[in-house]
Amino acid sequence: RAKNDSRGTFSFFEAEMDARAQTRRKIETDLREAIHNDVLRPYYQPLIDLSTGRITGCEALVRWRHAERGMISPGEFIPVAEETGLINAVGGLMLRRACMDAAQWPDDVRVAVNLSPLQFRVGNLLSVVMDTLKQSGLPPTRLELEITETLLLEKSDQVLATLHALRSLGVRISMDDFGTGYSSLSYLRSFPFDKIKIDQSFVRDLAANPDAQAIVRSIISLGKGLGVTITAEGVETEAELSCLRNEGCHEGQGFLFSRARPNVEIVSLLQAQRGERPAAGAALVA
Ligand code: C2E
Ligand code: MG
Ligand code: MG
Ligand code: MG
Repeated sequence: RAKNDSRGTFSFFEAEMDARAQTRRKIETDLREAIHNDVLRPYYQPLIDLSTGRITGCEALVRWRHAERGMISPGEFIPVAEETGLINAVGGLMLRRACMDAAQWPDDVRVAVNLSPLQFRVGNLLSVVMDTLKQSGLPPTRLELEITETLLLEKSDQVLATLHALRSLGVRISMDDFGTGYSSLSYLRSFPFDKIKIDQSFVRDLAANPDAQAIVRSIISLGKGLGVTITAEGVETEAELSCLRNEGCHEGQGFLFSRARPNVEIVSLLQAQRGERPAAGAALVA
């Protein structure tokens, strides 16, 4: 009798876990195919210099148009890609496309590419980046690589050496989603980087919430003390923007300026910007 009860309960969880595992397996299979068929594409979201209103760079964000399901968001498949190791292939092809596209942009516009910690663990990241830069013709100074705090948690000498080597090429290192990881101020001393991206959770409600404001202010002054560029992610409203400007934040990124767009659209945006007088405010509208 007891056996029946527990089996009843057990099979309920089993069914749920089964469904989840199946979804993951399906994503994995489809993702393998998407990589093989080369259907993943970077979309680009502009980064705006808050003092001039100009686009200083664009972040490459992976987009997957699934044959049956339409657009699948990175939030859904990046975790699966990380678990299965497929992120190495995804990261490699994103880097290649982003560098090739950016090589055609005006030469004062940079491209930012997200890196997974796994790409550091494989061990050949430095040569992959060097080869990709060489093949695309993109100068290293126009490439930014976005890493997260989880990478630094490992406190690995190999990671540290790779970051130093990348920077000595002229590549910039950005700390993405700053403040959401297991933030420890001590790693800021030991790891070389050029930019802090304030996570959008802090930017949200910036105008209304004094706590968020205090946190953002501290991150900005910390960044300035370290001599790095501060970028605010997820800027959605004019109120957030003016708050960030008041605090002296250097750069902004968010739906207020533009969503991520396909390369053709970015190219015409950048062409329109070229030769134009610097805009006074957030001239760019999605
Ligand atoms: P992320 O690197 O922090 O990228 C910023 C995310 O915030 C993007 O989501 C972007 O579309 C979104 N975003 C930008 N502005 C706003 C805004 O104003 N409001 C809101 N609500 N969201 C905004 P997306 O494209 O869905 O990417 C999610 C995450 O997936 C990225 O976060 C990054 O961690 C990961 N990811 C995307 N592409 C890649 C890639 O090629 N490689 C790796 N390793 N990870 C990637
Ligand atoms: Mg990023
Ligand atoms: Mg981010
Ligand atoms: Mg984020």
